[in-house]
Amino acid sequence: MARGRAPSKKPKLKACKKCGALVQNDVNVCPVCGSTEFTTNWEGMVIIMDPQSSELAKELSIPNPGMFAIRVAGRVVKRREA
Ligand SMILES: [Zn+2]
Repeated sequence: MARGRAPSKKPKLKACKKCGALVQNDVNVCPVCGSTEFTTNWEGMVIIMDPQSSELAKELSIPNPGMFAIRVAGRVVKRREA
């Protein structure tokens, strides 16, 4: 007997270790920086539409629009100190 519908699951995303871009699990090359190193150990998703006018994009050094992780294991995000 069939068992209802599949549990809804989150999209499987992984983060580029270099720039923090979030991509689907089956992507092998980062579309933003070209890195091939990814990690699933990331936290906090941010969607950048316009990096030039986004304070967050500047803080995270995000040059391109897209989805990015705020924290990526092994990646140090430079903070702008006053
Ligand atoms: Zn990248």
